[in-house]
Amino acid sequence: MKFEAIAVEKIPLIHTGDDLPSIICKNLELQDRDIVIIASTIVAKAEGEIFRLEDITPGKTALEMAARNGKDARFIQAVLSRSREVLVEKPFMLVTTLAGHTCVNAGVDESNIEDGFLLYPPENPDASASRLGQNLEKLCKKKLSVIVTDTNGRAFKIGQTGAAIGIYKIKPVKRWIGEKDLFGKVLEVTEEAVADELAGAANLLMGEGAGGTPVIVIRGFDYYCEEETYIKEMYRPEELDIIKKGLRCLQN
Ligand code: GDP
Ligand code: MN
Ligand code: MN
Ligand code: MN
Repeated sequence: MKFEAIAVEKIPLIHTGDDLPSIICKNLELQDRDIVIIASTIVAKAEGEIFRLEDITPGKTALEMAARNGKDARFIQAVLSRSREVLVEKPFMLVTTLAGHTCVNAGVDESNIEDGFLLYPPENPDASASRLGQNLEKLCKKKLSVIVTDTNGRAFKIGQTGAAIGIYKIKPVKRWIGEKDLFGKVLEVTEEAVADELAGAANLLMGEGAGGTPVIVIRGFDYYCEEETYIKEMYRPEELDIIKKGLRCLQN
């Protein structure tokens, strides 16, 4: 068994309105069932989610948090504007985004963009992945999957990894429940976060710095799915999320 990870070369600096599918198709010939993995940074740039820090007016909550935590109130306002819940305020803001993804700073990012600007994550990453996927499929006439990724930290461990935040034609989680192990025992709980694993693999070629490789194609890993799928299939239902419950207790 093997699969390939291919960095799409010659992607330019992306600006508002750029047509990512044609840029991608121009630089790599896609094949049926390729999984196209795209860094949220360039999706956000293409969607125009770029804001000047000095143009952001902090509201009351942002000003209070900034006073409590000694941070820039405008940055906090940016994070709040994309958050549905703040789980941790200090030493970093851990929030659940409007799209339901839990991460630091709501994915609002100051890296790989000009000084003084902030990049907000795509507002609806599943919709972005679908739009990109459908346009890619139209252009190259192949069946494709798409994952929009971001770099996320993890609880308990040092080191960030790539994480899936939006998907198209891919099942985010593989259920092993009911399958047998090597000794015939039936697996009872294991679910594999395949979309995150693929995002992590792609991130090895993206890097976090000046690499200039925001699009990676995974080829030969047969994981295409005809049905409509949603990233929220990966998010633990509220009533089962004991970590979130614990964090809420600590805040009150
Ligand atoms: P994030 O994980 O989505 O926040 O994206 P990163 O900021 O970590 O960037 C991932 C990769 O995309 C790195 O290789 C960056 O150099 C690259 N990158 C970011 N913006 C651009 C861009 O506008 N054009 C190109 N070619 N690469 C970019
Ligand atoms: Mn970044
Ligand atoms: Mn990011
Ligand atoms: Mn990154």
